[in-house]
Amino acid sequence: MLPWHKSAFTKLKQMIDQNHLPHALLITGMPQMGKFELMQQLVQTLLCHDQSCGECRVCRAIAKDNPKEILEVPTLIRRSHYPNMVYCRTEVNDRGVESKNIRINQIRAFCEALNKTADDLQIGVLFYADQMNVSAANSLLKTLEEPRDNTLIILLAHNPKNLPATILSRCQSVHLSPAYDEATQTWLEDHISQTQNADFDVAQLLENTHGVPFKVLSELSGDGFIHYQNWQNQLLDMVAHPTTLSQVQDFEGNEVAVLNCLQNLVIEGIRLKSLGHEGGLVELNQVVKTVRPDFLFRLLDDIYHAINLSKTTVNIKLLLDNVLIVWSHITHLKRYPQITRT
Ligand SMILES: [Zn+2]
Repeated sequence: MLPWHKSAFTKLKQMIDQNHLPHALLITGMPQMGKFELMQQLVQTLLCHDQSCGECRVCRAIAKDNPKEILEVPTLIRRSHYPNMVYCRTEVNDRGVESKNIRINQIRAFCEALNKTADDLQIGVLFYADQMNVSAANSLLKTLEEPRDNTLIILLAHNPKNLPATILSRCQSVHLSPAYDEATQTWLEDHISQTQNADFDVAQLLENTHGVPFKVLSELSGDGFIHYQNWQNQLLDMVAHPTTLSQVQDFEGNEVAVLNCLQNLVIEGIRLKSLGHEGGLVELNQVVKTVRPDFLFRLLDDIYHAINLSKTTVNIKLLLDNVLIVWSHITHLKRYPQITRT
């Protein structure tokens, strides 16, 4: 189980054990919190004869369901590899464009599929339930108001506030909260080191993504990670050799991402300085050795401020340039200059 799912899953497990599982369940949380994975875990626990063993026919069928693969083809609803389960989400048209809404014809097909008589539990999973249009929501409400035995409807939603109160009142909800805890950090460390051999402050990365571990991984994967490394290298290069400041590349258009990258470096620098340790980055160790700690804190402050200002109409390129001048000279500044306060 994913460590940040623990409390939500415990709540679900209690419902199962006490036979209090509702007819409709709502799983909420920010994008990429793993709502689909929590749903899979719940369904396996319900259907597997050995508490989600991961190996039996049922567990394997459910684990095969990949939301992307199953749901990308335009269709009203999709069947799971497990025969008594259906999925529904916003339609994707022939040109690959996703509709903004779940429509009533989809909800009708979804409820019909669940209505067939069967001895086994019928499960329906509704992705992006907060994107149902009004008539679709009304149609679903009818089914929720007359729940059939042996049926479980699971709604997944980013923002429950967009769901009608009438639907909300028919669902038991479980929320996946942003995760910053130690177990999540350890999980993240393991998963980062599997793909990249790099020094990251996972606590900081979680802060940057507002506590969404999968987002950290996706930001560090593929192109994103290559860019990040390239920026980090250039930032380290300019602090070791301030004359290279004029040669920086690829910063244009990526100012905020570069500021975030520098922010991570400065935070790591502060951490190493306060512990009196050396880290994995040679150039950063050099900085930490000679820099005045209060200058690092002031620079960090200026970076925060610049990131905040980037949401306004301020000239972010100029702001980044000013921050970089200070950063590249941080070890031999006599006085800390005023940079971002305007
Ligand atoms: Zn099993």
